[in-house]
Amino acid sequence: MPSAAYTQLRRRSLERWEEWEDESFTRISVGTSATALSVGAGETLAAIIRELERLGQPDVRVLEVGDIGFSWADPVVHIALPRQPRITYGNVVPESVPKLLEDVLTKGDLRADLALGVQAPEATGDIPPLDSQPWMRDQLRLVMANYGHIEPGNLAHYVTRGGFASLDRAIHEMAPQEVIDVVRESGLRGRGGALFPAGVKWSFMLNAPPGDRYLAINGEEGDPAAFTDASIVENDPHKLVEGILIASYAMGATRTFVHIRAEYQVAVARLRRALEEAEQAGLVGSGVMGTEFSHEIEIEATGHAYICGEETALMESVEGKRGAPRPRPPFPAQYGIFGRPTTVNNVKTIAYVPTVIEMGAEAFAKIGTENASGTAMLSLSGHIERPGIAEVPVGLNLQTVIADIAGGGRDGKLVKALQCGGPLGGIMSIAEADMPTEFQAMTAKGSPLGSGGILVFDQDTCIVDAVKIVAEFNEEESCGKCFPCRKGTSQIVHIFESIVAGHGETGDLEKIAGIGQTMVTGSLCGLGQLAPGVLNNAVKYFPEEFAEHVNGKYCRTGTCSALRGPVSASEETAKPTS
Ligand code: SF4
Repeated sequence: MPSAAYTQLRRRSLERWEEWEDESFTRISVGTSATALSVGAGETLAAIIRELERLGQPDVRVLEVGDIGFSWADPVVHIALPRQPRITYGNVVPESVPKLLEDVLTKGDLRADLALGVQAPEATGDIPPLDSQPWMRDQLRLVMANYGHIEPGNLAHYVTRGGFASLDRAIHEMAPQEVIDVVRESGLRGRGGALFPAGVKWSFMLNAPPGDRYLAINGEEGDPAAFTDASIVENDPHKLVEGILIASYAMGATRTFVHIRAEYQVAVARLRRALEEAEQAGLVGSGVMGTEFSHEIEIEATGHAYICGEETALMESVEGKRGAPRPRPPFPAQYGIFGRPTTVNNVKTIAYVPTVIEMGAEAFAKIGTENASGTAMLSLSGHIERPGIAEVPVGLNLQTVIADIAGGGRDGKLVKALQCGGPLGGIMSIAEADMPTEFQAMTAKGSPLGSGGILVFDQDTCIVDAVKIVAEFNEEESCGKCFPCRKGTSQIVHIFESIVAGHGETGDLEKIAGIGQTMVTGSLCGLGQLAPGVLNNAVKYFPEEFAEHVNGKYCRTGTCSALRGPVSASEETAKPTS
């Protein structure tokens, strides 16, 4: 039963939503994530407004909405004619706006050639349902449910789509322990890569001594191929705010620090707006929704440092110190930020919480596999046709993700390998990817899903060069606190530089393995402990490429210019024949 405070909030929200979503008008919305803005979504929006003036269509309503996750089709524009379903168009550059609007608004031509799909169960003419398209049919959007539908940071829009109902229920109808029990029974695991059960982690805080307790949100997202955290904050920041409030109520946390990269300018701005609106509505601050629960949320927009994704380094950073991991014990739940009990959760983990409360533990646990419930948010990038964000039930076949959602290799090239889980995740061959997209199964293959980044390499990629680039990243990002990692990462890079320069020696790989062993056992945090695994996996799946580089001084793709490359057709023809 919704509380009186929530009922009032919802009524006000519906009134504001109807200002936009009145079916008797044409509505045009443009997805404006940072990715979309970088390819001209802002200019497309301006062109739409200009063109509507030229066409004499002052009643058409225009709105900036979040991105729908199709980076490959940005700028994305949605058009809903009066009492008609919404049609989604891709690659709408400013130059194509006049013709598109003229055709759709004045000539009744829905431009099926530009449409990605109609947001309805049935086709509209030649335009198929969006959900039937290969890149959508296997998706299940829980966290992404509002992507592309609401104005990011607009509280009324979020509430109209059911937002803050879970918070209302949690703080008015459930004891903190009940909230923790639901999250634990749902099987929700940390989505930052560690996979620790969220409800169990929260329960550690219940035994903390009285006084302030903190929640820290890890939005560092340092993996080069990961951008799901940014997408949540950019496209639906209230989802994060609501999750923070529910989690904090359950743990008795008094303050949350949202640690997010300052480079995520769009995300930070939208989160600030969401927080302001939530504070004004009495959802954040003193006496949330008329209860005794009070909570403050601070945004810590910081400079990027990969190591600050490690939870104890993040806590140092929040305290204003150089980001470097702390030894454990003591654990954060005992001695965290400013010495107070602290839980650190990833953006994605917290963004799932409103859905878990809404669905209930049993329904959420039914999605996914026995080992891991719910969905997985994926950042798809690299040599593929359709880079972007997707959300799939945990367990969907990984090759299906690459072929259908990502569209396979770019320009028709064959996919050769994947690197999942960022620079500490192993590279595996595509042949190995006939397996569920499932955290534990992928870890067993040496390529853990981690934070959901999947980087795809096509047939022209030199695996040795790819591993060298990863090794350079790890050397650069090592904080230098402990010797095995500081020295080991640079020694590995040195050996790789020698191999690609044509000076590889028999025994190089064994040397790297020995260095790796010291790093694994002697490093303080995951960076030093996991970095050597990247090489081990690549050697396991592509032994012949390493042998060619070290022993044959040969690079089959021609990437390593100091080595012999493949013989081109013209060189072949030019060879003397006798
Ligand atoms: Fe720093 Fe590397 Fe040691 Fe981690 S393992 S604390 S990144 S030097």
